Amino acid sequence: MTREIIDSNQETMESLNALYPSVVLNLEILAEECAEIIQAKAKIIRFGLHNTRPGETGEAEASNIEKFCTEIGQLQAMVDILISNGVVLEEVVRRGYINKINKLRRFYDNPAG
Ligand SMILES: [Mg+2]
Repeated sequence: MTREIIDSNQETMESLNALYPSVVLNLEILAEECAEIIQAKAKIIRFGLHNTRPGETGEAEASNIEKFCTEIGQLQAMVDILISNGVVLEEVVRRGYINKINKLRRFYDNPAG
C-alpha cells in the first residue's frame, strides 16, 4: 500500500514540479527550517535552555528554548503547507509518527535492550 502511495505521489510531484516551481521552493524552505532547528538545538546544548544573547533585540532576544520552539512551529507550518499542496501525504506522516512513538516507548521501557 505504501509503495502505491509513493508511486502515486511521485507522479504528483513530477506534475507539480512542472506546473508549480513553488513546490520546490516549499521543499527548500522545509529543509531550511530543519537546519534552523539543528542550529537552535546546538545553542541549547552549548549555552542552556534559558540563555539569551546579550545585546539582541526583538525576536533575536528570545531564549534558546523559545527560538527552538519557534523553529519547530515554522517546520510544522511548512509540513502543513506541503500536506495542503498534496506533496506530503498526511496518512504516511501519521504512520511515521506512530512508528516513532512506539519505537521510543520500547527504548525507554528497556534502554539497555
Ligand atoms: Mg525558521
